[in-house]
Amino acid sequence: MLFSNTPVLTIYADCLKGYHEDTLLGMGKEERIMASLTWLGHAAFMLETGGYKILVDPFITGNPAASFKPDDSRTDFILITHGHGDHVGDALKIAEKTGAVIISNDEICRWFEKKGLKVHGQHLGGGFHHPFGYVKMTFALHGSALPDGSCGGNPGGFLITLKENGKRIYLAGDTGLFGDMRLIGEEGVDIAALPIGDNYTMGPEDALRAVKLIQPGLVIPIHYNTFPLLHQDPITWGKDVETQTLTRVLVMAPGESITL
Ligand SMILES: [Zn+2]
Repeated sequence: MLFSNTPVLTIYADCLKGYHEDTLLGMGKEERIMASLTWLGHAAFMLETGGYKILVDPFITGNPAASFKPDDSRTDFILITHGHGDHVGDALKIAEKTGAVIISNDEICRWFEKKGLKVHGQHLGGGFHHPFGYVKMTFALHGSALPDGSCGGNPGGFLITLKENGKRIYLAGDTGLFGDMRLIGEEGVDIAALPIGDNYTMGPEDALRAVKLIQPGLVIPIHYNTFPLLHQDPITWGKDVETQTLTRVLVMAPGESITL
């Protein structure tokens, strides 16, 4: 598994400059692959793999940290962890424009389907082989009401195994700490994106405990500093993680990408 046998390194400075040596990610040039993950601020990501563009929780409009213009994008799939406005975000607008397929829980998918969009509904614990990889929906401790008050089913996260290279990415979604994160970790997580903002999700202390349960090769803190209520210091958190675990921390700037 990527990262697992490499020394623990602190890479904050390079992260903040928007540059990462391949060697820091355990890859030589001959192994370089095209898959990439771009953080768009808050909980929004763009995953590019196998020629597909996949948006996750595309909260762009009204997101103070957003650095991505969806109108300029081709999007093939949109993954939505739960129904809240800061995660459904611009999904409707982007899907209408691009024809992207919405992947989420079945209740959220039915909501989008009624608006004439293409959907693929799943549910907690269920996985499906999409063209870009195997996507399993994972449990999350949160709410999921949709922006118009409709029932958005149960909140979730995504465990994505890329078809292109087998890398496994855990996007936890908005969640509190739960012990079964250990089971997710048993599958072998290369990269985990975990909320640290507190108030609505795990705060830094519980997110550190989550890292200990999941034991990913690399962890990316998300869902913090978007609004004053979510104010956190990701650098201090990252130092705690790297001191207490073998997991490395990547503090990303909005709009920054890493090669997977
Ligand atoms: Zn949220």
